[in-house]
Amino acid sequence: MTEVMHHVPRKPDKSKPWCPNCKLHTGYHRKSPDSEFYTCEICEGKTWRPTLPIPLLIVSLLLILFMFFMGYYAVFRLKDLRGVIMFPFGLFAGRGLYQNYASNAKHWRSFHKWAKKNR
Ligand SMILES: [Zn+2]
Repeated sequence: MTEVMHHVPRKPDKSKPWCPNCKLHTGYHRKSPDSEFYTCEICEGKTWRPTLPIPLLIVSLLLILFMFFMGYYAVFRLKDLRGVIMFPFGLFAGRGLYQNYASNAKHWRSFHKWAKKNR
């Protein structure tokens, strides 16, 4: 006899996508092969695996610092004014990265709140 692995939506499992709307490990699918997120089969919202937000925050900060540094270096060291473009670019990227971080952090927190109740 073979044992079938059943999908248990109420059992907290960090390795499975967790839908923040349904607050369950709902069924999911990928809308397109290159999509970063899965789509929840119940609410059609975004669902993804809980990820620890801290490494993401550090990587984002380093990336932004690097962009500002590049801009600073180009403008003040190389006297190349085209480097100025790095500042708005850095801010723009920073905003995107921050939103990404914030939604991950929120997802991570609500997953853990839920996981505590469902252990
Ligand atoms: Zn859902």
